[in-house]
Amino acid sequence: EKYGYLHQDNHIHNQAEMQSAIREFQWLSRLPITGELDRATLRQMAEPRCGVSDEGSQQLWAQRVNAIFTAGRDHGGQPRRRKKRSASQGEKWYKRHLTYQIVNWPRHLSPGPVRLAVRAAFQLWSNVSGLVFQEAPEGPADIRLAFYEGDHNDGSSNAFDGPGGTLAHAFLPCRGEAHFDMAERWTLNGHKGHNLFMVTAHEIGHTLGLEHSPVRHALMSPYYRKLGRSLVLSWDDIIAVQQLYGKPLGGRPVRLPGQVFHAALQEWELADAPSGHQGTAQPLYCQGVFDAITMDQNETVLVFRGSVYWTVSAEGTVSAALPLRQRWPQLPLAIEAAAFSPLDSKWYFFKGKRMWRYTGSKLDPGFPRKSSDLGLPRHPDCAFYYAPLGHLVLFKGSRYFVLNLKTLRSEPYYPRRLSDWTGVPQGTNGVLTRPDGRLYLFRQHQFWRFDPVKVRVTREGTWVQELSWTGCSNTLLNNNIL
Ligand SMILES: [Zn+2]
Ligand SMILES: [Zn+2]
Repeated sequence: EKYGYLHQDNHIHNQAEMQSAIREFQWLSRLPITGELDRATLRQMAEPRCGVSDEGSQQLWAQRVNAIFTAGRDHGGQPRRRKKRSASQGEKWYKRHLTYQIVNWPRHLSPGPVRLAVRAAFQLWSNVSGLVFQEAPEGPADIRLAFYEGDHNDGSSNAFDGPGGTLAHAFLPCRGEAHFDMAERWTLNGHKGHNLFMVTAHEIGHTLGLEHSPVRHALMSPYYRKLGRSLVLSWDDIIAVQQLYGKPLGGRPVRLPGQVFHAALQEWELADAPSGHQGTAQPLYCQGVFDAITMDQNETVLVFRGSVYWTVSAEGTVSAALPLRQRWPQLPLAIEAAAFSPLDSKWYFFKGKRMWRYTGSKLDPGFPRKSSDLGLPRHPDCAFYYAPLGHLVLFKGSRYFVLNLKTLRSEPYYPRRLSDWTGVPQGTNGVLTRPDGRLYLFRQHQFWRFDPVKVRVTREGTWVQELSWTGCSNTLLNNNIL
């Protein structure tokens, strides 16, 4: 009755009604369809889950799949829906830019990381649909997220039940409410308790008009799912949201693997990220740490961090975090140095004792190669193409190395001492050449600008604030933080 399998609450259901309800439940729960209350079915009924009713999910899923096969043909617009307990009037938003507000906060988690996790949960959906979200910390907002305990004035059947059982519920458009059980042990790092990011992402799906999915690994499955390594959104989630709101504006959908969110959530929780700059969320690398940076032939800056990278166009538009191995398939999970060489239009990547070379997204034959065979050090600090020499340069500690890209051999008389580069510090994590020929070196929050004509550092400062082409100073109307 609570989840919409048996209608007419509080009457005695006959055997036919019971069997049909159990069969429907088993179908949505991907259990063998026996119509019997067997052990597996009873166990599944005790699993922690979303409080939104499953009623009608089966028909909607069938219509969604049908629409895929009849795409291009006229199938009469939006499917008709059965009357739903949790539904208010209307089934989708008729605007693409939606605001949200976090009304109150869970216990035992600080507002800073919660705010970032919620923003990331919205980003998950904006990455694959035509929607844009923005936090409105003071309200009013289209979508409100709130934590409540027990009965909280939306009907006794919606009362929360303490730890486990129902974790949260939400309402279809345009009511714009998602409620979370305050009594749950909410977590961001995924060790104990229920992951707030995953549950928020699911409930946001309802506030956008999505209902429960029978697809295994779908985020819109009614049951709680841990944040794993695999993709957070399944094909069914993406089709469902795109059928309502279309594809992302000006770009292909971005799907991020769970491990990217996992790493970010852990980091935010540890750092207890400052909640100071609300509404102007910056990409994660703007916090000051990245693995490598380079610039391609279109003057697009690429910033690498862990298993993802960002692009900053010449006009200053920052992309969402993109999976590294989607573009360069054979790379390791993270890299230590990267350089695009305009000499041969190739990409060079370094990690540990190896070097990878790509033409576009294609790994060149014979690569990766051992750095030691090329006369290069292990674990370089950074790498860049240096036009005055016509070669690739690698910094490592107190020395630098020069690689001839035509012969793939180290130039004679190198390595030499880093002090040749007057003013350049040791241990930089990235370096690139700007279109004016000057070199920018990065170490955490600091940057150094090296002038090849004067052969010395001519400026230093804090890059997030001072270098707008890093994409960290203007990120309005954009909820991408990963
Ligand atoms: Zn749900
Ligand atoms: Zn509620």
